[in-house]
Amino acid sequence: DLILHNGEFIREEDLVISKEDRGYQFGDGIYEVIRVYDGNLFTAKEHIDRFYESADKIKIVIPHTKDVFHKMMYDFVEMNNINNGQVYVQITRGAAERQHQFPTQAEPVITGNTKSVERPVASMKSGVKAKFIEDIRWLRCDIKSLNLLGNVLAKQEATEEGFFEAILHRGETVTEGCSSNMYGIKNGTLYTHPANNLILNGITRRVILELCKELDIPVEETAFTKTQALEMDEFFMSSTTTEVMPVIEIGSQKIGQGVPGELTRKLQSAFEARIGVGVKS
Ligand code: PLP
Repeated sequence: DLILHNGEFIREEDLVISKEDRGYQFGDGIYEVIRVYDGNLFTAKEHIDRFYESADKIKIVIPHTKDVFHKMMYDFVEMNNINNGQVYVQITRGAAERQHQFPTQAEPVITGNTKSVERPVASMKSGVKAKFIEDIRWLRCDIKSLNLLGNVLAKQEATEEGFFEAILHRGETVTEGCSSNMYGIKNGTLYTHPANNLILNGITRRVILELCKELDIPVEETAFTKTQALEMDEFFMSSTTTEVMPVIEIGSQKIGQGVPGELTRKLQSAFEARIGVGVKS
């Protein structure tokens, strides 16, 4: 497979990245992950808009128009024959002698790769387990920054203990997952953290909120506490790669009956209809 480097598709062995790249030294850059279903980039416009917004928030100027960038993503997927998979793309502020403040000369560096990925159908059917971990990240979680240490440390702790994901919380308030958004359902209403600086406004989250409207599921974009999370009737998480993923246990406590909930399954089916794949049994 070819990789992307500054607007060109090249062989991975031909890639040269400077040790002075600010992505490497400071995590000074942003990224995006776009899902490919049946050769199509799902919600490509939303992902590309967010890529440009994240770049803008840290004052990196992407040297392509959105239209050119969009076409580049499509060409990338087509060239590598990705039918079901994902595109990863990042941009850094570029290479310059190490100093914290922005360099005056550096050119941004874009790199990306594609890969084939299966949908996690088994976990989506059975549901997964998650655990609470304190959210120690910075206060601009709305930016899809390459700086992911807070996320990495929490995911590592969760994984070591056999959990699929961490449910991050600031004090008592649940924010989101390490690489996902979190939702609880109580008495037929869906609750999720508002899209502010404390979470990444997931593209999957936006699709889910649209689906709730279509399905007449009331939504409250209101933060809930750890205690409230444990008392939800249903719980699930979402991301580009995990779609609508039921969470059936938090720590050692079952949520509801300890199986994927009814509205969660309804949202899963509606999501599958949206991406145009059948429910595989
Ligand atoms: N929250 C965080 C911290 C993430 O890293 C991600 C995705 O990786 C999400 C939420 C979900 O976002 P999306 O649905 O756009 O993949």
